[in-house]
Amino acid sequence: MPNTVFWFRRDLRLIDNPALLEAVSAAGDDGVRALFVLDPVPFRASGGPRTSHLARSLRALDDALGGALLIRHGDPVTEVPRAAAEIDADEVYIAADYGPYGSRRDQRVEKALLDAGATLHRTGSPYAVAPGRVRKPDGTPYRVFTPFSKAWRTHGWRGPVDAPKKVSWLPAKDGDGFPDVPDLPDVELPEAGEDAARERLAAFLDEKVRHYKSDRNRPDHDGTSRLSVHLKYGELHPRTILAELAKHRGEGADTFRNEICWRDFYADVMFHRPESVWESLDQRVGSIETDSGKQADERFEAWAAGRTGFPIVDAGMRQLLSVGWMHNRVRMITASFLVKDLHLPWQRGAAHFLDLLVDGDYASNNHGWQWVAGTGTDAAPYIRVFNPVTQGKKFDPDGGYVRRWVPELAEVSGAAVHEPWTLETQPEGYPEPIVDHAAERKETLDRFERVRR
Ligand SMILES: Cc1cc2nc3c(=O)[nH]c(=O)nc-3n(C[C@H](O)[C@H](O)[C@H](O)COP(=O)(O)OP(=O)(O)OC[C@H]3O[C@@H](n4cnc5c(N)ncnc54)[C@H](O)[C@@H]3O)c2cc1C
Repeated sequence: MPNTVFWFRRDLRLIDNPALLEAVSAAGDDGVRALFVLDPVPFRASGGPRTSHLARSLRALDDALGGALLIRHGDPVTEVPRAAAEIDADEVYIAADYGPYGSRRDQRVEKALLDAGATLHRTGSPYAVAPGRVRKPDGTPYRVFTPFSKAWRTHGWRGPVDAPKKVSWLPAKDGDGFPDVPDLPDVELPEAGEDAARERLAAFLDEKVRHYKSDRNRPDHDGTSRLSVHLKYGELHPRTILAELAKHRGEGADTFRNEICWRDFYADVMFHRPESVWESLDQRVGSIETDSGKQADERFEAWAAGRTGFPIVDAGMRQLLSVGWMHNRVRMITASFLVKDLHLPWQRGAAHFLDLLVDGDYASNNHGWQWVAGTGTDAAPYIRVFNPVTQGKKFDPDGGYVRRWVPELAEVSGAAVHEPWTLETQPEGYPEPIVDHAAERKETLDRFERVRR
C-alpha cells in the first residue's frame, strides 16, 4: 500500500480523530506523513493569544508523534501536494472544514492534488454533528436555536474512536520550523495540547458539571469548563465531551450539552449563510444608525482598555486583556455596551474580540455578537439593552469578579462596587462613567424604532 499524508488543521489530537484512523488504515504497513501547513492567511488574522496557543499545541502534538510533525509554511495549495509528492503519496486525509475560507481552500487543494494524480479524502468535522446535517422536515436549515437543538439531539452523533494503534510515522524532513511563541509577558494563557484538554475535561466533569446550570452565569465563580480553546484547535473533539458527559445525569449535564449544541448551531448558520460572518443576518436591524468619528473612536478605545467607568464592563475587558478569555455572561454585557450604549457597529467589537480571544472563532464569536446586537438568528421583536449595573449586581452579587480585575475598586466592598459613583468618594484612578446608560438606552430604542418603522 502507498504512503499517505495526514494533514492536521483544527484537529491537533490523536484520540477520537476518525480521519487520522482512515489515513493510517489506508497506509497499512507503509508510512504516514503528519503534516501541518502554516497558512499565512488565517495565521495573520490570529491575535497573539491564539498564535501562542497554536504554537504550543503544535509542539505538544509533535511530542505525541515522536517528533514526526512536518511543518511547512505557505499556501496549502502548493505545500500539501508538495509534501505528498515527496513521499510518493497519492492519498491525503483531512477532517472537513465547513468555514467559508477553509472550505474554499480545501477545494483548491483538492484540485491541485487531482492535477498531481492524488486524492483528498474528507472524514468527520470539528463538530458533534457536521454543519448542514440537521435540517427541518422540509429540508431547509433551522434559523432559530431551540428547534435546532431538539432536532440535533434526535439526530445524535457517533461515539468517539480510539487513537490509531500502530503507526509508522514518516520522519519530518526539511520542515520550515515551528511558529514562534509570541512574547506576551502580561497575558496568562492556558496549557495547550491534547493531554491538557483531556485533563481539563475530566476535572470539569468531576468537580463542576453538577453545579453548571447555576454557576455558568456567575463570572465570580470558576464554574465553566474553559474548554473553548481546546475545541477551537481540536485538541478535544466535542463527541468525546458528549460521550463523557453521558456518564453524568442532571440539569448541569443537560445544560452543558446544550452549550455544545450552540457551537454546532452557529457553525451550521455559518455553513448556510457564510456572509453572516460580517454581515447582519437581519439586515433591517443591521441598518440601525451607528456612530463614527473622533468621539466614537475615543469611546471604543475606552471600552477596549476597560476604562468605561462601568465596573462589570471594565472587569470583562481587562480579563480579556489579561488572559485572552472572558466569561460568557460578561461577553454579552460588554458586547451589549459597545453596541447599545456606545452605538458602535457590532463588527468593530467582533474584530477586537477575535484579535484577543484565545478561543476566537468566527462562527461562535460573530454570531454571538449578532445575537447581542439583535441582528442575528434570534430575531426578537424588541431590542434588548443590558443594564450594566443590574447585570453586575445579579451575576456578580458580591462584586468579587469586579474587584479581581479592576484593582482601583479592590477596596470597595460588596455590591457597591458596581456603582462607584454612589460612593462618598470616587475611587482613585477609576474613571467616571463615559456615558449615561439611561440616556443611551433611550437613544438605542429610538434608533431601533426608526428602522422598525
Ligand atoms: C459576544 C460573544 C462572543 C463570543 N465569542 C466566542 C468565540 O470567539 N469562541 C467561542 O468558542 N465562543 C465564543 N462565545 C461563546 C461563549 O462565550 C464561549 O464559548 C464560552 O465563554 C467559553 O468558555 P467555556 O469553554 O468555559 O464555556 P462553557 O460554558 O464551559 O461551555 C462549553 C462549550 O460550549 C460552547 N459554548 C458555550 N456557550 C456558547 C455560545 N454562546 N455560543 C457558541 N458556543 C458556546 C463552547 O464551545 C464552550 O467551550 C462568544 C459569546 C458571545 C456572547
